[in-house]
Amino acid sequence: MNDPNRPDLRIDPLSGAPTVIVGSRQGRPNLPDTGCPFCPGGLEAPDPYEVRWFVNRWPALPEDCCELLLYTPDHTAEFWSLGISGATRVVDLWAERTAALGARSDVDYVLIFENRGPEVGATIAHPHGQVYAFSTIPPVPQKELNDGVLEPSSVAAELLVSSSGDWLSWVPDAASYPYELRIAPRTQVGSLTDSDCDRTGLAAVLIDSLARLDQLFSEPMPYMMWIHQRPTDGGDWPAARVHLHITPLLRSAQTQRFVAAAELGSGITFNPVQPADAAAQLRACAGCDGTEVVR
Ligand SMILES: [Zn+2]
Ligand SMILES: [Zn+2]
Repeated sequence: MNDPNRPDLRIDPLSGAPTVIVGSRQGRPNLPDTGCPFCPGGLEAPDPYEVRWFVNRWPALPEDCCELLLYTPDHTAEFWSLGISGATRVVDLWAERTAALGARSDVDYVLIFENRGPEVGATIAHPHGQVYAFSTIPPVPQKELNDGVLEPSSVAAELLVSSSGDWLSWVPDAASYPYELRIAPRTQVGSLTDSDCDRTGLAAVLIDSLARLDQLFSEPMPYMMWIHQRPTDGGDWPAARVHLHITPLLRSAQTQRFVAAAELGSGITFNPVQPADAAAQLRACAGCDGTEVVR
């Protein structure tokens, strides 16, 4: 008899799509009623901290494979407002948890991600990200590793948004979302844990890119962000290159882009904004060097 609270991976026989059924997550609170659990002194952070991780008490996967990552003790901060030193602490924490979870024999892939804003289901405003440690390589990174091409050095200048150190941020030429961003290093670095990974450069280009997204419509941009890097299954993966995907949800001020029936039904997305125009608009924002940063 299956435990109804234990995450259960099923494959749909018609589409082949994998889904984890997680009955227990329906019981998780939307908004805690005892104050923010992520603030110092709160339920999940009893002691002072700069960055912090802990096992998610409402996991979508079994065996301590879901963690929460606190970016700052400041409840009202935004990721970009942490500055390069604060954001580097976050990138270092991502690398630390990648190494720790990836070292487990039952973990083949570590996915670090963030959902920002209530529009994408973030139930707590305190700046934080998450990690899922998978026992197999999930289909999206697997497909990229098999067939994907990622060449930051050949991105057209009209698509570039920001750069720092080894890292570039740009709007993909075939962006699925209007202000979608991709962030990757020029050099072939497979993982945040590699000794030649310029983590400070990543921190700088990331907070600059996120600041531009908030400045674009003078309102906080809801987004989904995730990191793809080398699997931890023991393979070599010489072609793997660490990179970030950022999927912002707004297509214009106060207007959310919804994925519609034709897109789900066909597997083809329709983007109403020219990627080069999106990049130009983002370049015209002040970024982290500017003073017109929206709070
Ligand atoms: Zn808080
Ligand atoms: Zn990717």
